[in-house]
Amino acid sequence: MKPVNALLAATGTTIFTVMSALAVEHQAINLGQGFPDTEGPEDIVRVAAEALLDHRNQYPPLTGLPELRAAVAAANQRFYGLEIDPAHGVVVTSGATEAITASLMALLNPGDEVVLIEPLYDTYLPVVKLLGAVPRLVRLEPPNWELPRAELEAAFGPKTKALLLNSPMNPTGKVFTPDELAFIAALLRRHDAYAVCDEVYEHLVFAGARHVPLATLPDMAERSLRIGSAGKTFSLTGWKVGYISGPAALMSVVAKAHQNLTFTTPPNLQRAVAYGLGKPDTYFDSLAGGLQAQRDLLDAGLTRLGFRTLPAQGSYFITADFSPLGFEGDDVAFCRMITQEAGVAAIPVSAFYVGAAPRHYARFAFCKQIPVLEEALRRLERWVAKTPLTALA
Ligand code: PMP
Ligand code: GLN
Repeated sequence: MKPVNALLAATGTTIFTVMSALAVEHQAINLGQGFPDTEGPEDIVRVAAEALLDHRNQYPPLTGLPELRAAVAAANQRFYGLEIDPAHGVVVTSGATEAITASLMALLNPGDEVVLIEPLYDTYLPVVKLLGAVPRLVRLEPPNWELPRAELEAAFGPKTKALLLNSPMNPTGKVFTPDELAFIAALLRRHDAYAVCDEVYEHLVFAGARHVPLATLPDMAERSLRIGSAGKTFSLTGWKVGYISGPAALMSVVAKAHQNLTFTTPPNLQRAVAYGLGKPDTYFDSLAGGLQAQRDLLDAGLTRLGFRTLPAQGSYFITADFSPLGFEGDDVAFCRMITQEAGVAAIPVSAFYVGAAPRHYARFAFCKQIPVLEEALRRLERWVAKTPLTALA
């Protein structure tokens, strides 16, 4: 038989699925895949349930229900002062995952170069390659994950079509600073390039940091596609409702990509997300406040056990250097070992790199209930106490 698509055939199952399956197999507490272990707000879920019984089950409009597009535009204005046309500047997608693919499809022709920043989320690179575009990777280095300005500048050239920016960033928890964003904006301007802004963690930002969308910088609104995710904003990750906002000229092409990917997104969920985006500021503040308390608990606990944690300013994740524990194996071995033997799953950070990567960091999700995090720490503590780690390396 003729060979199937070579790139997809060579792509492994995502690390999030692999580690979640291992966690189930070993009854481990899953601090790997990033999903909250509580339901999102009941009032939002109720709107979705009621919409199912309210004859809202046929195809909604291609670019999204008008009420959700209006809510996305209003949220852009309310949180960031961004003017978005609800009729022509928003496309609702089935998750941010589709939004990323649709945005890249809309912008890229084969041979175009795309600047990607490592460590990077696992769908970016395969999609860029499937579109026949050429990735130009720039790497942030732990522990500070600062933007390496000279390298970024060198990655841009006459063929650069777009940069993909994830802030707040998975897995590092980094929130790009206004100064870094200004540097990026200057490069985009100089090279007449677009930005695909994966901002799924926009509302999960902690005290001391502030999320500034790249689109709010001078001249950036006209060249940015800004992506949000109801899954993250309302702690309903299984819903897979995403939204892209941007200038009408780009969004009309994004809509064509969406038309060919999924065409529409379930209408009852769209209706509920429209309702959710209208929630008062107190909802959004308490979402971040609650997560910050969970982050602090996990951070302090891991530090007490001997991990060297890196600061997380946003997202669901802490990255922790486990080498001070004495374990000399790599991150894949470490994450498998703690899942199987301590009963706590984590994600090896090398999964977010192409080729050679740091091999001594594990990513822990803290979007779990406090007693669950406490139990995870107790399990790790018992395991660290009884395990001669250097012997296992
Ligand atoms: N981008 C990043 C950086 C993510 O962490 C996630 C989380 N899954 C996504 C995109 C995808 O979001 P969604 O579940 O809405 O597709
Ligand atoms: N974004 C989530 C994470 O980083 C997982 C999403 C998925 O499993 N594809 O853990």
